[in-house]
Amino acid sequence: MFSSEEFINIHTHSLQTNPSVSQICSHSLNGNLPSEGFFSLGMHPWHIEENKLETVLSLLMQFVTRPNVIAIGEIGLDRVIETKYELQETFFKAQLTVSEYFKKPVIIHSVKAHSDILFIRKSGSYKMPWIIHGFNANKNTADQLIKANIYLSFGEALLNEKSKAIEVFPLIPTKQIFLETDESSHSIEEIYEKAAFLKKMTVEQLKQKIADNFQTCFK
Ligand SMILES: [Zn+2]
Repeated sequence: MFSSEEFINIHTHSLQTNPSVSQICSHSLNGNLPSEGFFSLGMHPWHIEENKLETVLSLLMQFVTRPNVIAIGEIGLDRVIETKYELQETFFKAQLTVSEYFKKPVIIHSVKAHSDILFIRKSGSYKMPWIIHGFNANKNTADQLIKANIYLSFGEALLNEKSKAIEVFPLIPTKQIFLETDESSHSIEEIYEKAAFLKKMTVEQLKQKIADNFQTCFK
């Protein structure tokens, strides 16, 4: 699992199994955790509620040590939803602490919040790898995040000729990237194909690079 032989899908919400894909499925703590497959675990900013932090943390602690829970997430910050931003920050930081304690990398949802995430990374003593998923911002933002050793995961935006992702992707060091489907109806194979084309590599070469990144990040 998670070798260069498979397509590594770093972030999805689909439980679907395919022998040629290794994936991290995001589980939002609101149901039973399946024993098959690999998961990230965390409370998404869309689902947080006031006075629920203790419940969320105790659920997280209950499941985080399972061997098939390999990351925290998706968690993060979202400036376009109505949920109070301070409350989002409280949940985000508490779950980051869990990540550090249990040594699990973090998969991050960031909507108009890249600079806040960068600020949090720089102002805390965070050592675990962070992966911003669904990256679709400009080169300057990408450079700053990469400098802080944050990984960027790209998804279906690579299939949209007008996206920022498609401009930025070829310019980013390959050792700093992951690929994902998230909630897309496109397959991870399609995304690898487009990504390999943009990087002027073969799909096999790209699979090897992503598998190396996975080993570095999830060691
Ligand atoms: Zn997602």
